Amino acid sequence: MRAEPRGGAIKRLLLLGGGHAHVRVLADLAARPLTGWQVHLVSPHRRQVYSGMLPGWVAGHYPIEACAIRLDALAAAAGATFHETAGVALDLARGAVLGADGTTLPFDALSIDTGPMPALQALPGAATHALPVRPIEQFIAAWPALVDRLLGQCRRFDLVIVGAGAAGVELAFAVRHRAALEGWSHLFVSVLGADALPLAGMPEATRRHAARLLAQRGIAWRGGVRATGLDAGQVRIDAGPPVPFDACLVSTGAAAPAWPAASGLATDAGGFVRVDRTLRSVSHPQVFAAGDVAALADARPKSGVFAVRAGPVLSHNLRAFCEGRALQPWTPQRQALYLVATGDRHALATWGRWSWSGRWVWRWKDRIDRRFMRRFGTPA
Ligand SMILES: Cc1cc2nc3c(=O)[nH]c(=O)nc-3n(C[C@H](O)[C@H](O)[C@H](O)COP(=O)(O)OP(=O)(O)OC[C@H]3O[C@@H](n4cnc5c(N)ncnc54)[C@H](O)[C@@H]3O)c2cc1C
Repeated sequence: MRAEPRGGAIKRLLLLGGGHAHVRVLADLAARPLTGWQVHLVSPHRRQVYSGMLPGWVAGHYPIEACAIRLDALAAAAGATFHETAGVALDLARGAVLGADGTTLPFDALSIDTGPMPALQALPGAATHALPVRPIEQFIAAWPALVDRLLGQCRRFDLVIVGAGAAGVELAFAVRHRAALEGWSHLFVSVLGADALPLAGMPEATRRHAARLLAQRGIAWRGGVRATGLDAGQVRIDAGPPVPFDACLVSTGAAAPAWPAASGLATDAGGFVRVDRTLRSVSHPQVFAAGDVAALADARPKSGVFAVRAGPVLSHNLRAFCEGRALQPWTPQRQALYLVATGDRHALATWGRWSWSGRWVWRWKDRIDRRFMRRFGTPA
């Protein structure tokens, strides 16, 4: 596979989004600059909060600075120009990204790692009456007001979490742990999930273990319940009366942003950017994508694990593309290690059908997470 960048003098490689794969690309560029190319990074925020540590921030284990990669500093080290805006449209004919601030950002090569949008289509009212866990910066900004409401209420305060994947479950444990630390004895946490057990996709033993731990921690698990919409103060469900809440968090999976499909990029049925094994768009050879926004040739779950693993491949192939060399195909691993923190410096781990749990698992996760952050300049 050979790649031909467009003609001209100095060319522009635009990195759209500061996701897991792009931080690796930037770190590699800092170690070995790309000659003949200007690199630009576009991100709505100067930092990238690492989702794997977000529940640890909620639980009170980490200050937010320990969970954030400074994208502006990483870009500077890589010799890249940082643009603090979100891409809202792509003009593939002209080779430009339109920023939310009205700027037009031209490119000769584009790489997209903008992560997922919250999947709220099937949950009318969620955007108005609940707090989606993504975008993460919005969640972080809204969290103190939620805590203020909790502290301002003397009677029982019901926090309902809709979605029982790793994110929803970790957040439930994290909030429960924080409540124990802070003495929020009037806080009641419930998790609603469509399956009988939480953590769909993980081994049965892990899922049962998670359900037991939820019960032990005093978190109400309501499995086999599909949320159908939200009104002020209540979640409508498919089986039974609405579930009342004082606050509701929504973590129901990943959706695609609208702009890739609108631009004419080939996407899958969900609107995720279709890429080949080299992470290159199947329709536009000057465009690459990785992380949750990409629909991989070898389909894998949308997860941080695969976004991280894509980093070295993307880094290699962007460099190869810019230098006119052959691209390298990638077959993502079939199985991935998942580590689910349960709030009190205890965690569950799964690898394929294997699973473990304990405080040592949390220390293992903590070490992996901190090492990941240190690699990108975050003191941890
Ligand atoms: C609470 C929580 C816990 C999780 N725990 C785990 C876990 O333990 N293990 C696991 O594998 N997965 C976990 N996940 C899932 C994981 O977060 C995602 O799969 C992962 O973040 C995807 O990485 P990414 O690089 O695709 O995007 P992201 O990490 O979302 O990064 C995308 C970046 O692009 C920026 N961006 C967004 N839109 C634009 C735009 N239009 N223009 C420019 N920039 C943009 C964003 O601000 C962000 O900085 C968790 C998710 C959450 C919410």
